[in-house]
Amino acid sequence: MPKALVLERALELSLREIDLPQTLARDAVRVRTEVVGICGSDVHYYKHGRIGPFVVSAPMVLGHEAAGVVVEVGGDVTTLRIGDRVCVEPGVPDFTSRASRIGRYNLDPSLTFWATPPDHGCLTPEVVHPASLCYRLPDTVTAAQGAMVEPLAVCIQATTKAQIKPGDIAVVLGAGPIGLLQALAARASGCSDVFIFDPQDQKLDIAAQYPGIHPLYARNGSPAAQIGTATGGWGADVLFECSGAAAAFRGIADLLRPGGTIVAVGMPIDPVAMDIVALQVREIALFTVFRYANVYDRAINLLASGQIDVGPLITGTYDFDDSIAAFERAAEGRAEDIKIQIRMPD
Ligand SMILES: [Zn+2]
Repeated sequence: MPKALVLERALELSLREIDLPQTLARDAVRVRTEVVGICGSDVHYYKHGRIGPFVVSAPMVLGHEAAGVVVEVGGDVTTLRIGDRVCVEPGVPDFTSRASRIGRYNLDPSLTFWATPPDHGCLTPEVVHPASLCYRLPDTVTAAQGAMVEPLAVCIQATTKAQIKPGDIAVVLGAGPIGLLQALAARASGCSDVFIFDPQDQKLDIAAQYPGIHPLYARNGSPAAQIGTATGGWGADVLFECSGAAAAFRGIADLLRPGGTIVAVGMPIDPVAMDIVALQVREIALFTVFRYANVYDRAINLLASGQIDVGPLITGTYDFDDSIAAFERAAEGRAEDIKIQIRMPD
């Protein structure tokens, strides 16, 4: 039996052998995992044992941000070979479903997703996955970078919804891994300037290393006041809400120009009250995103071309044998931690 990082129940992890379904279907590949990133959702399951309707009621392997090497291919697979380095899209839809057929496979109700109960994740040395959801990594993209494609994909999805035009000015609320990747994705999509707000200065210091990304420190006034100053009172063209904090939605319209666009990326835990009239009177559009569809290739291209450098966002790396310590560290939520990754055994 393979060894895996198992969430037994809230606040109880073990690194142990577990029976996992690992038979290779004809359209699937076997991937030896190299690097797995820890996501906010993994930490949330660890701390609370549930996210909304998804409840951990049986032991579950964590992890859904993976890069690795193909070690076996199913009989019908023509797109990948043994030895290919890949990153893996963790959601598996029914590609014949109605949602899939309109191009929105991320919204297929029958979609299964790694480390979302009852489905196991990828913090184990080998995984079996449909070949069509494994994407070859160019030599210039490392496994650590490849494991960042999954969170970056969320941001590419949001950027696509926002229909950014060259020279747009964007605001990002929240400077966790998603907020920082969102700022980079917005810049790579043509925004001349991206302003980013977070109550923790240390996160903004990381953002400030990048050209065109401007931190909005809390000590300098409200985000709305600072955006007003920066844009001559006009407001930003696009806002990406990446904090998931209910407070972020209060007065959110004040940050935008007339006709501007909000994309809700972060997922609030509880229902959020919003001033719809404040959006209506200035025709501000509100888009939402749930994961992603058809964006992995774009995310890989941005990493391979060097347009997005995720290096400064990987702030901690642990060996698989120390993955419980990695989760305990991630659960502390330290201001200096952005993305913690786990390096799998060779
Ligand atoms: Zn994730």
